Amino acid sequence: PKTVHVIGAGLAGSEAAWQLAQAGVPVILHEMRPLRGTEAHQTDRCAELVCSNSLRSDDAVNNAVGLLHEEMRRANSLILQSADRHKLPAGGALAVDREAFAEGVTQALAQHPLVTMTREEITGLPPEEWDSVIVATGPLTSPALSQAVLDVTGEAALSFFDAIAPIVHRDSIDMEKAWFQSRYDEKGAGGTGAGGDGADYINCSLDKPVYNDFIEALLTGEKTDFKEWEQSTPYFEGCLPIEVMAARGPQTLRFGPMKPVGLFNPHDQRRPYAVVQLRQDNALGTLYNIVGFQTKLKHAEQVRVFRMIPGLENAEFARLGGLHRNTFLNSPKLLDRSLRLKARPSLRFAGQVTGVEGYVESAAIGLLAGRFAAAERLGRVIVTPPPTTAMGALLSHITVNADAKTFQPMNVNFGLFPEIASPGGLTKAQLREWKAGRKPRLSERALQDLSGWLTA
Ligand code: FAD
Repeated sequence: PKTVHVIGAGLAGSEAAWQLAQAGVPVILHEMRPLRGTEAHQTDRCAELVCSNSLRSDDAVNNAVGLLHEEMRRANSLILQSADRHKLPAGGALAVDREAFAEGVTQALAQHPLVTMTREEITGLPPEEWDSVIVATGPLTSPALSQAVLDVTGEAALSFFDAIAPIVHRDSIDMEKAWFQSRYDEKGAGGTGAGGDGADYINCSLDKPVYNDFIEALLTGEKTDFKEWEQSTPYFEGCLPIEVMAARGPQTLRFGPMKPVGLFNPHDQRRPYAVVQLRQDNALGTLYNIVGFQTKLKHAEQVRVFRMIPGLENAEFARLGGLHRNTFLNSPKLLDRSLRLKARPSLRFAGQVTGVEGYVESAAIGLLAGRFAAAERLGRVIVTPPPTTAMGALLSHITVNADAKTFQPMNVNFGLFPEIASPGGLTKAQLREWKAGRKPRLSERALQDLSGWLTA
């Protein structure tokens, strides 16, 4: 078969290229790094994770993103394969050693005989002779390409802001004040963290006066300036900068990323007033990221303010937080069901740029785009996954179900799945029981329907 071109070797593009090659279709993968960087990427590897090292919950029964993991594993996902291979302890979450993970993806693609990788920025619409292209250039799509897409759709891309959290060197954390413990694990013996004491998180406790001072410092700390056009761009609610949360009320963080529930400070034998949690970020256990602390404070201010946290007085930062514009298409209006641009069907889109949110969701849409493009190349009928599967629910949302007028990026969740009606004639108690079993029931149906689709 003729070559398919994939632009962008991020989460979605890498997965799409893999799916094509595994189906026997040759691929040229065009990636602009390291010749041209983005505001968030730091390496030239494929599938670099730009912020958190977590692919979120791995619970395939009760959690929609865990179910999406499982569906992708069954569909031979390269991203999941590398994540499973380079997994780190993180309770029920699938966290990875970011470098080993990305290197695993890069090597698998480099070694595949049907994948050719070229390092170049695509600065406009691809040439006409590329009759099948997957654009997977992500939220930080280079401006020249966004402009070209705008020209062909006649529609301005939508956008919002996304923030990243700082990473701290483990040996600069004062363990006389901080301690290892997973939330709700009273003995701090829940996992196999590199701390050696069996828990996955490092915790720093704040008493009430320190917490109040900390909130004050967040609110008054100097923020990165916003250009005028940025003023009207909204934040993604699932990834708000910490100082924006703090501005919503002094207690907001105590009910958010700084919530103290399920934790006990062994140093002073007390339940903390507020807590800062750090999660292991690499396999060596030398780096820890501050959970939920994405921020747009200026770099010098981050160092000053985060060193107010007991245990982090001498913290050394491997990376500081930052804020980035995030671009996506109005997919329900512009894309067909198999992710083709209606205005130019030789272009397919995949990843965050289609209006899904998150590493796993981006990779899942890459997986589908790769399979659809492969089917097309091989002269087969394109069959979309049933909307009862996590992949199908996400795809239906962005291409059909979402309202184009209010379209915003979406994480996978059970609200996107068609409901299963309860059997009639249940008593109140039976109905309660039925409702409690909703997520496992949706998951079970999803995996059943997925196997039918995979066979088809
Ligand atoms: P990417 O992974 O960004 O891949 C796009 C690729 O295309 C890049 O390699 C880029 O270099 C390349 N490229 C761009 N333009 C061109 C061009 N013209 N020519 C050639 N190559 C090009 N999600 C989470 O689940 N957890 C998080 O913690 C998280 N934090 C985020 C923080 C920030 C600052 C941002 C911007 C996003 C974050 N996301 C997070 C959202 C999202 O999951 C990631 O952005 C994810 O990487 C999206 O995958 P993708 O494949 O669509 O894009």
